[in-house]
Amino acid sequence: MTKPAMPSGRTRIELATLPTPFEKCARLSQELGRHGPAPAIWMKRDDCTGFAGGGNKARKLEFLVAEALQQGADVLVTIGALQSNHARQTAAAAARHGLGCVLLLTDSVANRGETYRTNGNQLLDRIFGAQIRFLAAGADSTAIAAETMAALAAQGRKPYLIPVGGSNALGSLAYREALLELAVQAQEEGLKLDHIVVPTGSGGTHAGILAGVEDAGLSCRVHGVSVSRSSGEAGAIVAGLVQEIFALEGRQRGAVAGLVVDDTQIGPGYGQPTAAMVEAVELVARTEGILLDPVYTGKAMAGLLALVRSGAIAPTETVVFWHTGGAPGLFAYPEVFGG
Ligand SMILES: *Cc1c(COP(=O)(O)O)cnc(C)c1O
Repeated sequence: MTKPAMPSGRTRIELATLPTPFEKCARLSQELGRHGPAPAIWMKRDDCTGFAGGGNKARKLEFLVAEALQQGADVLVTIGALQSNHARQTAAAAARHGLGCVLLLTDSVANRGETYRTNGNQLLDRIFGAQIRFLAAGADSTAIAAETMAALAAQGRKPYLIPVGGSNALGSLAYREALLELAVQAQEEGLKLDHIVVPTGSGGTHAGILAGVEDAGLSCRVHGVSVSRSSGEAGAIVAGLVQEIFALEGRQRGAVAGLVVDDTQIGPGYGQPTAAMVEAVELVARTEGILLDPVYTGKAMAGLLALVRSGAIAPTETVVFWHTGGAPGLFAYPEVFGG
């Protein structure tokens, strides 16, 4: 298949292998249908973007790093949690383009063990050669990022700041294009999509998908499963980003229709394991041979399972689970799985 059209006309570098696969999860549907009919479940495999372990940030970084290079930057600075997949992919994108990389990583997830600090994405950040600065829980990472940018500039460097999760309008735009890629694949399969389920963290992925649904003229319902914020808070962030995506292209739009954030899967907090997450990760691994992750996709899949079990997604319908990656994070949670 040829590369999808790029209606944004924005410069981008190539990091991801696109289009990512779009696969039917027949055994997962069958398992959910053991006590009655179940919906068709498809998966958009953005865990297979290919670059540096895969995941959704590869798409966003294609736009963000392109802008950094255009501006003559020589070092990327970004912010995240200790096990941030975004930080790992940013470190790799910097390496790929000969840029320096400074990661400001906050120790924001309580009660984690030693492996959380040393394995998973932490290990990979070090292998990619990033300079890591650890911030205590509750530190003002925005202020520290501004200080870091100023300090680098004072040394004669040209730093480029990428926000948490790459979720500004430019990064989020990548997911508008990703939705258009999915729309082509769904059409090729002769599918009418009724629901899309996606994790909602910093919100750019969810916002881009919503913008794409609108541009593609689809009628499907997009369920963002929040991994940290209440549905009100996350909804406001996503709605703002949708507006900004359209504004970036000088387009206007009205209220954000159909914005749904499910905040019932967060559990004790961001990065904290839940029983439903563990069930979802193990179920998908054992029916499909596909790895989810403990922080995002495990909780989002738990949300999908709940929607199917409650009948909110009907057995006659088709749902797409947007797999955003994150499996390296499994190695930071060894005690949680395999029971
Ligand atoms: C960052 C991330 C998300 C969330 O995407 P946002 O655009 O930040 O909402 C989901 N899944 C994985 C694996 C991620 O790393």
